[in-house]
Amino acid sequence: MTRKGSAQRPWTTDDVEALRNMAGRITRREICRQLKRSRKSVEHAAARLGLSLRCYVSKLVWCDECASWRSRIDKDGRCRVCAMRERLAGREAACAEALAAMTPEQRAVYDENEAKRGTRRFPARPKPRIAGSCPISRYERERAKAAYLLDIEEWEHRRLKLPYDAAKTRLRRMREVTGTNPRKSLKQ
Ligand SMILES: [Zn+2]
Repeated sequence: MTRKGSAQRPWTTDDVEALRNMAGRITRREICRQLKRSRKSVEHAAARLGLSLRCYVSKLVWCDECASWRSRIDKDGRCRVCAMRERLAGREAACAEALAAMTPEQRAVYDENEAKRGTRRFPARPKPRIAGSCPISRYERERAKAAYLLDIEEWEHRRLKLPYDAAKTRLRRMREVTGTNPRKSLKQ
């Protein structure tokens, strides 16, 4: 496997081991940098070992608040799930306040109306996208993992958005009972 004379460093078992570990996990460029080898040399060795260098570079970003990989974070470094969690808490507090402000008669009417309504069911937690049986490359596995994390984000967001919307509706119904103007105290 030598061509250009003595300039070529032989691959040690450590080098090969390192390449096996990195292939498909980090970029080709980064592998070259770590091994201090040319692109050609790395590609050649990978081909010889039957390793794919194709690497999935995730665009996900980290949210410190919920310690999760997310599609994006806002300027405060927070993901949409965390933002929705806070909005929900705000709306639930508004509901509790409106409930506490009701007279016993209003409360009785409201409770009776609510009892007639069914509760909405939450969607099931998404499952990983990888089918267990077929062998796939590291690239495909990483890509599937990222896609799954996005599924989870969507699901977690939805699980908060449903009660958030429901709280908005409850607030409206409470105000129908009490006859108050929603715009006066609803801050959202
Ligand atoms: Zn978060």
